[in-house]
Parts: sequence; C-alpha cells; structure tokens
Amino acid sequence: MWDIMKKKYVIAIDGPGASGKSTTAKALARKLKYIYIDTGAMYRACALCSLENSINLKDIPKLITMLENIDIKILYSEKGNKIFLNGNDVSQRIREADITKLSSEIAKIDIVRKKMVLLQREIGKNGGVIMDGRDIGTVVFPNADFKFFMIANEKTRALRRWKEAAKKGENLSLKDIEKELIWRDANDTSRKISPLKQAEDAIPVDTSNMTIDDQVEFLFKIIMRGKSA
Ligand code: C5P
Repeated sequence: MWDIMKKKYVIAIDGPGASGKSTTAKALARKLKYIYIDTGAMYRACALCSLENSINLKDIPKLITMLENIDIKILYSEKGNKIFLNGNDVSQRIREADITKLSSEIAKIDIVRKKMVLLQREIGKNGGVIMDGRDIGTVVFPNADFKFFMIANEKTRALRRWKEAAKKGENLSLKDIEKELIWRDANDTSRKISPLKQAEDAIPVDTSNMTIDDQVEFLFKIIMRGKSA
C-alpha cells in the first residue's frame, strides 16, 4: 500500500455521466491518499463563465479572451473538492441543469479543450492523481499508469442521478433525467474533438450491478497488483 502511495501513479477514469466515475474516484483517492480531479467540473466552470459574461459560443474572439483571463482553482479536501471560478466558490452552481447542458456544448470547442487539457496536465504532472472525465485516457494522459472506462445502463444511471437530486431536495422526474443523460451521451460521443470513447488499453467496468464498495474494490485490487504495462 505504502509502495503505491509512493509510486504516484496517474489513474485515468473515463465514462459517461452517472456511470460511477466520480464516486469511485473520490473513494479511491481517499484510500490511496491521491489527489482527485473532476475534469467535468472544469468544463462546467467554463460554461458558467461564458454564461455570466453573456458570451455566445460562436464568438471565438470573445471566448479566447475569456480563456486567457479565466481562473479555475480546485481546492482539494478529504470531504470533497471545491471549485472556484475567478475567486468565487461555484461548486453548487455548476451542478445545475443549465450548466450541465452548456458544459457539453462548450466542451466541443477546440480552444476550450486545449486550455483545459493544459491545466489538467499541469495538475497531474507529478502523479499521485486520479482524474475522471471523458478524454483522460485517450488525450490528457495517454500514458496513464492505469486506465478505466466505466459504464452502466441508462436506467441505473438515471436512478442514481434521481437519488442524488432527491437527497438535495430537488424534485426531478426520472424520465427527464434519463432524457438529459441520453442527450449528453450522444453529444459527447459524437463530437469531432476528443469524443467520449474507451481508450484501447482501458479496462472496462460495467457498474450497473455493482455497489460503490464493489467498484472501489475492483479498481483498488487492479492498482495494488501494480502496473501491467
Ligand atoms: O463529468 P461531467 O458530467 O461533470 O462533465 C460535464 C461535461 O463536460 C460533459 O458532458 C462533457 O461534455 C464535458 N467533459 C469533457 N471532457 C472531460 C470532462 C467533461 O468533454 N474530460
């Protein structure tokens, strides 16, 4: 265990929304004493920034200026990360439905992705990091020590999101959640740049019938066995 902590691996976890990536990554990071980076939160912060500044996503010069000045900071803590946009804590706001949709739109734009990938590589360059997203194993860290690709069926994913929302006191319909997930999957897998896809050397994990503990244990055992490549 100590050895793994010292080795400072880069662990990439990709997959669609509500496939279990972030819950697993967070728990695994706590176990390994690694940093957890939710790269989706970074795209969400960009989306919020564009909205707050009324930037049309087709207005590339304005987007360039926005990206030159954007300040995204992630504060790591055992209890969960907090994300700051230009000095403000936006951790809650970026989870709202309008930002969820806009993040998938802004994530299609080349200059946005280039900037996010740079930041992500910078954060992960010393290893000891678990990063989740859509393109971590394919683009951000193609040489990651471990790559996992998580999936789960639509019904299970929608139910997970519904439960999360209910916990926060939000009354959303299961049908609407499922529709949004399907729309976002299609948007994320069909985009030209860095689409959501499994890296050839990633280990697939279908979490449909797994508990959170099962998921963490599954990844943990593989990592403890050591680097296979
Ligand atoms: O993971 P999360 O649902 O928070 O991501 C929000 C959106 O950000 C995704 O739908 C996707 O379009 C985009 N994203 C991405 N690449 C990543 C992480 C997220 O394109 N590495």
